[in-house]
Amino acid sequence: MLTSYDYLVTGGAGFIGSHLCERLLSDGKSVCVLDDLSTGSLKNIETLLPSDDFNFIKGSVLSVETVNECVSLCSEIIHLAAAVGVENVINKPVETIETNVGGTENILRAARKNNTKVFIASTSEVYGKSWKVPFAEDGDIVLGPTSRNRWSYACSKALDEFLALAYNQSYGLPVVICRFFNTVGPRQSGRYGMVLPRFINQALTGQPITVFGNGTQTRCFSLVSEVVDSLLALMNNPQAVGKVVNVGSTEEITILELARRVREISGSNSEIIIVPYKDAYPEGFEDMQRRVPDVSRLIGLTGFSPKADTNTIIRKVISWGIPEGVV
Ligand code: UDP
Repeated sequence: MLTSYDYLVTGGAGFIGSHLCERLLSDGKSVCVLDDLSTGSLKNIETLLPSDDFNFIKGSVLSVETVNECVSLCSEIIHLAAAVGVENVINKPVETIETNVGGTENILRAARKNNTKVFIASTSEVYGKSWKVPFAEDGDIVLGPTSRNRWSYACSKALDEFLALAYNQSYGLPVVICRFFNTVGPRQSGRYGMVLPRFINQALTGQPITVFGNGTQTRCFSLVSEVVDSLLALMNNPQAVGKVVNVGSTEEITILELARRVREISGSNSEIIIVPYKDAYPEGFEDMQRRVPDVSRLIGLTGFSPKADTNTIIRKVISWGIPEGVV
């Protein structure tokens, strides 16, 4: 174990986190991961564990002591640890709110002590049901009522953004905030609700491909490696400090079309079935009809945005193997 690290990555054993750690190590950086393994797994980082430049700490961002210790060891923080997936958000609302709000609060407080630069991962969920597509960072956010707990996730992440911006304004803490739009790729699990690994799992195991609602809702899927490129380019650009930046692809696809493409590209005979929302989700769920990022700020700051097309992404994920599906 080293006495200091270039980066602290919270949630580093998760899907995006493990890809980020891989990249940082291959760039010659040293990395300390803090992860409670609630949705992440050691399997995601098994190839990194033997490296002298890598340290894994199993612990929660809700422990002030652990966070303070980890932050004191590192030059920069990439805070990805959060409650993820529609499944968790709906079934574990207390954990979602507490982890997302309390965790970020602990990270920012600790960062302030040494003025450590912090990256805060936010989400396109923050836009809620805004109809002003594509979504621009300074556009209004439109959330549903507090009686529908899906919105607690968006609200908890919006609060993280407010808090990080407030630390930047009041204390000069260097913070960079990204709103990720449907990031996908190898190692993503379908356990917690993510549509692409689910569809691919269903197609490759001969089960029906379950399209929720009527399938006309749209998303833009970006490849995790390109999301990691964007994240690091923003972290390395002083102009990004104090800003909220969308990170995602602009190729919009309906969920029904996604199901068709997964079926075709995988050569599967699975039937595509329509599952009404009331059978797919518990009471209190509302889906988002369209979600497309405006990436002009990202391009202005980095010169690029995620470009891999949906077919290429589907092929890449299929070639990796059968993703974990619904359990
Ligand atoms: N979805 C679906 N079938 C599934 C899982 C999800 O049709 O087995 C739909 C879901 O209702 C939503 C879209 O796919 O409209 C994306 O869902 P996901 O949970 O991946 O992410 P979200 O964009 O909702 O955060």
